[in-house]
Amino acid sequence: MGIRYTGPYAQQVDDHEGQAARKLADGTVSAEWTEETTSLHGFVAACSCGWRAEDEHPATEVGREAAEAQWNTEHLSPLIEAARAAWDTWPEELVGLARYVRDRMHAQDAAEALRILDQMVADVDYRRRTVTQLAAQQEPLA
Ligand SMILES: [Zn+2]
Repeated sequence: MGIRYTGPYAQQVDDHEGQAARKLADGTVSAEWTEETTSLHGFVAACSCGWRAEDEHPATEVGREAAEAQWNTEHLSPLIEAARAAWDTWPEELVGLARYVRDRMHAQDAAEALRILDQMVADVDYRRRTVTQLAAQQEPLA
């Protein structure tokens, strides 16, 4: 049972489920929860994408929470930041696609133009969902 980010950029980071993986006494790290608690050596921050922190936290509730917090700050936060930064290049990408559609229309390649237009609509729709969530968060708490 991992931690999932559910904020405005959830769609961009939905392949990432964080957890405090269990490091056992023999050095193996297990994402699975088993009854075998006696060999628990500590917790390691891990993600469903394969990312894993280097350091180990104590085999306590505090250690488990520290591992989860580490996943959040060291792994999740940069991903959200990257998703946020993707806005920077978006206008140019959109213009590039629009030019390509124009060129395909000039070349009478409507099928390819349609394919790209559908891609643009999906992209705009997806960004609209992100902005909708952000707008809801910014509403005054009256
Ligand atoms: Zn990940």
